[in-house]
Amino acid sequence: MSSLPYSYDAPGSQALFDRAAAVTPGGVNSPVRAFRAVGGTPRFMVSGKGAYLTDADGREYVDLVCSWGPMILGHSHPQVIAAVQDAVSRGTSFGTPGEGEVALAEEMVARIDPLEQVRLVSSGTEATMSAIRLARGFTRRTKVIKFAGCYHGHVDSLLAAAGSGVATFALPDTPGVTGAQAGDTIVLPYNDLEAVQEAFHRHPGEVACVITEASPGNMGVVPPQPGFNQGLKDACQANGALYISDEVMTGFRTSRAGWFGVDGVVPDLMTFGKVMGGGFPAAAFGGRADVMAHLAPAGPVYQAGTLSGNPVATAAGLAQLRLLDAAAYDKVNAVSEQIQTLVTEALTKEGVAHRLQTASNMFSVFFTDRPVRNYEDAKAQESFRFTAFFHSLLANGVYLPPSSFESWFVSTAHDERAVQQIADALPAAARAAAEAQA
Ligand SMILES: *Cc1c(COP(=O)(O)O)cnc(C)c1O
Repeated sequence: MSSLPYSYDAPGSQALFDRAAAVTPGGVNSPVRAFRAVGGTPRFMVSGKGAYLTDADGREYVDLVCSWGPMILGHSHPQVIAAVQDAVSRGTSFGTPGEGEVALAEEMVARIDPLEQVRLVSSGTEATMSAIRLARGFTRRTKVIKFAGCYHGHVDSLLAAAGSGVATFALPDTPGVTGAQAGDTIVLPYNDLEAVQEAFHRHPGEVACVITEASPGNMGVVPPQPGFNQGLKDACQANGALYISDEVMTGFRTSRAGWFGVDGVVPDLMTFGKVMGGGFPAAAFGGRADVMAHLAPAGPVYQAGTLSGNPVATAAGLAQLRLLDAAAYDKVNAVSEQIQTLVTEALTKEGVAHRLQTASNMFSVFFTDRPVRNYEDAKAQESFRFTAFFHSLLANGVYLPPSSFESWFVSTAHDERAVQQIADALPAAARAAAEAQA
């Protein structure tokens, strides 16, 4: 792929990538960071400030990835950094309870009505894995319903037809996941309530839970059709299963109460990560107190973590959440809309068939003229146009997710200068998309 015409010199990143590839599979610690889908050298970033990232060659980019969602206040926000420095100065891990984790849990519970109790963990993967175990322990059932194109972390049983990197690299199945682990997972097309009803009908008394992204962002942005989430909730209730809303991406991003704050559908359990960690590894699962009471040490379902509720991570997360008031969300939503408009105008001007899809301030572009309601629709896009679009933007200082199956993210730090830089880069990118050949 290094012969791609869009590549340009990035010797600093290339040197680091060569070193990385010698000691790390594929040279990255998370597959979506590699440029496998778009080709070329992944940019190694050395610093971030506000809306900008600077790479190992000293090039500056407007960041539309925001660490895949967490950096909703931009990079190096002074108040978040100060909270971290203050926490670090008092020690980095105690292996005992501490006030920071209580304060973070209180802030989360105060923002989201149905969230009565939370358990802190260190990654979104841990959160969904633990929520599934709890749902199975609570219902004493085994089967899990998930949707094609939804990503819930790299949990064995949830890697079936998953989104994010699994979608980007078109991996049909993941070796290492046993038939038994995958066999209890029922994968259904997204936005298809009839398929859900049918699955409950075929497996009476067997389904422990339905897990869904509150509004999917891991196959690109594919929001739930009106009534879909409520339909899931109702089907779960009618069949004695739990409704798990995965808000790892949407939580505290799409509104102060995440996607729950947008559609108001009450889940039994929810999962969080990304924004709540303020750029550190902090995540959580929580929900109904009577369900959470089944968790050790209150109940029999075991779950634990050496660094869970880490004082530095919780200080960062709490500082970030406290800064996320109504004005902050207004700002993020407004700048998101500005960029959406610019993208649509540029692509329309060049006659490029596309669908811009949004979920609050999350958005992404599909190179297709048809609406994208599920994973099959998402896969039907002309991804080769995205490749050309991506590399043109990259060359002009705009950093997009290196995949057409990912949401774009903005922050309160995306100011007029950042928006102007995107506006300046878009015409050439739209032309590149128009001229791209399959
Ligand atoms: C990112 C993500 C996860 C996994 O979180 P990690 O912290 O990467 O393990 C789970 N669910 C959703 C919806 C996500 O977007």
